Amino acid sequence: MIVTKQKSLEEILNFLGDDEAIFLIGCRLCAAMYDTGGLPQVKEMGEKLKARGKTVSGFSAIAALCHGKNVEKEFSERAREVDAAQSILVLACGEGVQMVNKISAKPVYPALDTLFLGSVIEDRRFEEHCSLCGECILNLTGGICPVTRCAKGILNGPCGGVNEGKCEVGNGRECAWVLIHDRLKSQGKLDNIRDIFDPKDFSRALHPHSIEEGDK
Ligand code: SF4
Ligand code: SF4
Repeated sequence: MIVTKQKSLEEILNFLGDDEAIFLIGCRLCAAMYDTGGLPQVKEMGEKLKARGKTVSGFSAIAALCHGKNVEKEFSERAREVDAAQSILVLACGEGVQMVNKISAKPVYPALDTLFLGSVIEDRRFEEHCSLCGECILNLTGGICPVTRCAKGILNGPCGGVNEGKCEVGNGRECAWVLIHDRLKSQGKLDNIRDIFDPKDFSRALHPHSIEEGDK
């Protein structure tokens, strides 16, 4: 899931400026899971804006705000509420904000900061394990990503900063390369990392990405 964090109300009010009537929309997938942009948070944001003198022309939260057809359908069903707004405040990741921006000509603003692609470890705990590099090498590294989980993203580790399995960066986090070594050793696959890894093809991580059915 995409992990997000709400911006402060002051920051939001600052970019809403003099716009009085606001339409709010959230996402019932990722943003709802972390309580940053589901329907309860959209309602709560609406109340906060009203308390600061704004008018809420309408609000909703739909599944997968990054899905263009979902957004088009919602906006056509709520055309009057959207038309009555001077701007739209989106409680979703940056993909959701930009999908709304594609579909509406109104000014569209982000209520959240988009942090990372995360795994759900516990109910309220998320960890980043993949940074979408476009050339996965987990088959060689025991299922542990050095690009993301090594603080320096190095492909041939560990570096000299490891001490008793801990990384010198990041308040005692475990060294990814020690984890990779131990995992491969337990599987009898240390040969995987005896050779030097070639530099990765980071051209695959060039932004912006796009893909179509025929590209598979
Ligand atoms: S190697 Fe790349 S694709 Fe694979 S987990 Fe790491 S960042 Fe993600
Ligand atoms: S100590 Fe380990 S995790 Fe930290 S930067 Fe060096 S190789 Fe990467």
